[in-house]
Amino acid sequence: MNYCGDCGSLLNENYNGNAKKVCTKCNWKWYDPPVPVVIVFVSTQNNEMLYVRQKWFPENKWATVSGFIDKHESAEEAAVREVREETGLETRVIENWGTIISKNRPNDLYIMVHCEVNGGKLQAGDDADEVDVAPIDTQRLIEGSIAEHMLLKFLNN
Ligand SMILES: [Zn+2]
Repeated sequence: MNYCGDCGSLLNENYNGNAKKVCTKCNWKWYDPPVPVVIVFVSTQNNEMLYVRQKWFPENKWATVSGFIDKHESAEEAAVREVREETGLETRVIENWGTIISKNRPNDLYIMVHCEVNGGKLQAGDDADEVDVAPIDTQRLIEGSIAEHMLLKFLNN
């Protein structure tokens, strides 16, 4: 952020306070808040889980559903909506597992939600290249990813 969100003037980077930058004209402050992102571990009642991948992923590696939370939407509501949009599946929220920071994306605050499939028809949406529901397999997930972290948590519960 280089310019004031209120009046458009240049922000002062050397502000000495809680805010990261402050407007040189109107004193508007920018706090550089993290962006809340929901990430969803989706299980089924048959010991399967939902896998999602993009074309640019390493070969045979999958992730899970994630997406930005809309204004006026809870993390749990965003979880159900994102799963529906990316995969066509309907889910119910089982539990909110709290937050985690990604090493690769330090500006995002990930909120981990566990959902269970209860309907819908599996079909890749606009934000996913491939979707799959298959038996649980840690090897399919990117090592060190939040998706892997969530699966391990699920298995250890
Ligand atoms: Zn300003």
